[in-house]
Amino acid sequence: MTPFVQVGVKMRILVTGGAGFIGSHLIDRLMAQGHEVLCLDNFYTGTKRNIIQWLDNPNFELIRHDVTEPIRLEVDQVYHLACPASPVHYQFNPVKTIKTNVMGTLYMLGLAKRVGARFLLASTSEVYGDPDVHPQPESYRGNVNTIGPRACYDEGKRVAETLAFEYYREHKVDIRVARIFNTYGPRMLENDGRVVSNFIVQALQGKPLTVFGDGSQTRSFCYVSDLVEGLMRLMNGDYIGPVNLGNPGEYTILQLAEKIQTAINPDAELIYQPLPEDDPKQRQPDITLAKNYLNWQPTIPLDQGLAMTIEDFKSRHQE
Ligand code: NAD
Ligand code: UDP
Repeated sequence: MTPFVQVGVKMRILVTGGAGFIGSHLIDRLMAQGHEVLCLDNFYTGTKRNIIQWLDNPNFELIRHDVTEPIRLEVDQVYHLACPASPVHYQFNPVKTIKTNVMGTLYMLGLAKRVGARFLLASTSEVYGDPDVHPQPESYRGNVNTIGPRACYDEGKRVAETLAFEYYREHKVDIRVARIFNTYGPRMLENDGRVVSNFIVQALQGKPLTVFGDGSQTRSFCYVSDLVEGLMRLMNGDYIGPVNLGNPGEYTILQLAEKIQTAINPDAELIYQPLPEDDPKQRQPDITLAKNYLNWQPTIPLDQGLAMTIEDFKSRHQE
C-alpha cells in the first residue's frame, strides 16, 4: 500500500497526547510532510524523549497542558489522542480518566468548533466491551460493564464518541472517529503495562512472562506505523466513521507469549496470574469499512512488527 502523502498543503495541526506512544509516531509523519505541529501533553504517560527530535524545529511547538482545562489555539486539524491507554494507567485514577475523556473531548471539540478545524477522535475497540459478536463490526453496539474497573475508560470513550457526533449534528463540526484496536511498536514505555511491552521487558530481563488467566483470550495486534497511516487517511478523507483501525490477525495471549519467547529467550518461563475483572475474551476487528472507505489495511505482520519492537527495547536497555 502506498503511504498517504498530502501534496503542497501546509497546515497547522494539533496533536493532543502527542508525547505518547501513538501520538509521537503520528507527529513524526506530520513533521516529515512539512506541517506545523502543536504537541499538547500533560506528560502523564508521555515523555519528552518521544519528541526530542523535533524540539528545535521551528515547525514544532510543545505545549504542556492538561486537556481537562480549556485552551485557545488556532489550528486547521485536531488529532485528539490525549488519554492513558493501558489499563494499569487508566485505572490508577479512574475519575481523572473519565474527566480526560469527557471534559477533555468537550474542550477539544469546542476548540475545533471555534476555529473551524477538522477533529479526529482516537476512540477504541473497548467501546465493544467483552464482545459477544466476533469479529467486531462498527455496527455492533457493545457489551460494556458500566460499573466495572474498565468502565472509566470504556464508557469515557463511548461518551467521547457521543460528544463528537453531537458536535457534528448540532454545531456542524467536521469530525472523524477512529476505533483503534490493540497497537504496539517502538517507544512503548517499559512500565506501560500492556501485554506486548510486558512480555518483551520480562523476557529481556530474564523474568517469567506473566500470562493472565489461561492465556486463551485473544487480541489482534496492529503495528504502530500501519495504525498511523490509517489515522491520517481517515483525517484527510471524506468518511467520518466510526471506523475500526486494527490488524485482523488474531492470536491468543499464549501464542503471543510463545512468539516472544522464541524471539528473545526460548527458556523464558511462563507464569499464570489471575485474569483481571472484565478482561475481554476475544477481540478482532472487522476492517471492511476501513478497506472500502479509506483504502487501508495493515501491511506489517506480527512477527516483523515484534522484531522491530524488540530491537527498540534492546537499544533502550543498552543506554
Ligand atoms: P499513551 O499513554 O502512550 O499516550 C497518551 C498520551 O496522552 C500521553 O502522552 C499522556 O501523557 C497524554 N495524556 C493523558 N492524559 C492527558 C490529559 N489529561 N491531558 C493531556 N495529555 C494527556 O497511549 P497511546 O497508546 O499512544 O494511545 C493514544 C490514544 O489512542 C489514546 O486516546 C488511546 O485511548 C487510544 N487508543 C490506543 C490503543 C493502543 O493500543 N495503543 C488502542 C485503542 C485506543
Ligand atoms: N495480559 C497478560 N499479561 C500481561 C499483561 C496483559 O496476559 O502482563 C493480557 C490481558 O489480561 C489481556 C491481554 O493480555 O487479556 C491484552 O492486555 P492489554 O493490557 O495489553 O490490552 P487490553 O486488555 O486493553 O486489550
